[in-house]
Amino acid sequence: MSVLVVGGGVAGLTAAWHLLSTGTPASDITVLESSPRVGGKLARAEVAGRLVDIGAESMLALRPEARELIEEIGLGDALTVPATTSASIWSRDRLWPLPTGTLMGVPVDPESVRGVLTDAEVARLADEQPWPEPLTDDIAVGEYLAHRLGDAVVDRLVEPLLGGVYAASARRLSMAAAVPMLYAVARDGGSVTGAAAKAAAARSGTRSGSGAFIGLTGGVGRLPEHLRDVLVGRGVTVETGVTVRELTATGSPGRPQWEATCGAVPTPAYRSADAVVLAVPPPAAARLLAPLAPVAGEILGGIDMASMAIVTLAVERRGADLPGSGFLVPDVDGRTIKASTFSSGKWAWVDALDEDLVFLRASIGRAGDVTALQWPDADLVDVAVREVGEAVGAPLPRVVDSHVQRWGGGLPQYAVGHLGRIAQVEAAVARVPGLEVCGAAYGGVGIPAVIASARAAAERLTRGSS
Ligand SMILES: Cc1cc2nc3c(=O)[nH]c(=O)nc-3n(C[C@H](O)[C@H](O)[C@H](O)COP(=O)(O)OP(=O)(O)OC[C@H]3O[C@@H](n4cnc5c(N)ncnc54)[C@H](O)[C@@H]3O)c2cc1C
Repeated sequence: MSVLVVGGGVAGLTAAWHLLSTGTPASDITVLESSPRVGGKLARAEVAGRLVDIGAESMLALRPEARELIEEIGLGDALTVPATTSASIWSRDRLWPLPTGTLMGVPVDPESVRGVLTDAEVARLADEQPWPEPLTDDIAVGEYLAHRLGDAVVDRLVEPLLGGVYAASARRLSMAAAVPMLYAVARDGGSVTGAAAKAAAARSGTRSGSGAFIGLTGGVGRLPEHLRDVLVGRGVTVETGVTVRELTATGSPGRPQWEATCGAVPTPAYRSADAVVLAVPPPAAARLLAPLAPVAGEILGGIDMASMAIVTLAVERRGADLPGSGFLVPDVDGRTIKASTFSSGKWAWVDALDEDLVFLRASIGRAGDVTALQWPDADLVDVAVREVGEAVGAPLPRVVDSHVQRWGGGLPQYAVGHLGRIAQVEAAVARVPGLEVCGAAYGGVGIPAVIASARAAAERLTRGSS
């Protein structure tokens, strides 16, 4: 079976890798990536002459897939854990320690968030209200929690935490997709604070001390670069700068065959294969699927994408007092930045990059909130420098270099009902022989979830062909 993998982000590269391990000969696998480099949202760039991540920078360790993939491809020695897990919330003009032991911001102990929340807000949090009737359907995380625990816990804790992962508003984000454990409790009519306690206990049982996240020395952006090299070394063809514009089924129902139309309109090029794995973001997947699986195309085309920018700064080490791994920013306080990561504090390898410099980054933009993203790069840098300085209570030392990476349409939005719609997409695609989809739109936006989605697509394809 020859396979075309469309999209060279972590999903597409993982699908190719998994096809190899399920017995597809390497010479029959081709990855086509439209941009000049593989990796998609996993990317590195030079800032002050040092290579740092400018996209994703850490991976959830509570799921095994990222660690497994990294070990499988021989990059296990580079696995690392954050040097500190102490983060803050910049709320009401000062930094507060981010409470540990929360379920996506819902604290086990209301007392632990006194300060971030006022006394009245803590009292409301402690006075958990029942949901009026049994929950039978998906609901927005924020809507549900605001009713049970009050608006403040949503605005000042849940929203910034969820925003950090999904770049979404908690009041639109699907609870079933984003916090399935909470959804299960909600359907059973159980206590939300009780669910947070259960989650905290489960976490402390699984990974004592080492934290919930892992990274790679040299940057998470090394993962796709290394994976590409391993794939090419095994005989897989990985082509960059090749945009797939159209997919045509040219075979018969019993013997699927595909033709991909690539390249510029006046000078098209064609690639053919027995099967296709579509590992591109929803807007591109929607266009390619429209003639093949119209329902899937329509649903994917309806998924909102959140845009954002990552501002990376290299500042003089002398005088830089940046506590912990960084901070989150509640939207309600009207700041421009949504979060800041103190990369040199968080990762030992970043700290070791330059004895005179520290590196940090700020993210700007979230679903439905793109005003600041219209600004020129210099203004984004200025606001990041100013607001981080305000948060830590002293202006940042001299900025030696900066880098602005815009991620237009960077993250698919898991709106209420997302899982049901994705089930419809998958059912529609399953009716097209020799076609699979995977990536951040399907089973979670985090790297381990994307890897899982790619593995599953490769397995379905292999099963279908045997
Ligand atoms: C700023 C930012 C920070 C993030 N931070 C983290 C983090 O710290 N930890 C974490 O776990 N997750 C993080 N994420 C999420 C995670 O990085 C992404 O969900 C994941 O990388 C998506 O992988 P993917 O392969 O599905 O999609 P992508 O990375 O988008 O890859 C898809 C690829 O398909 C290519 N493509 C598109 N159309 C075509 C076409 N027609 N033909 C050929 N190729 C095409 C694109 O160029 C792209 O390279 C972050 C996301 C963003 C945007």
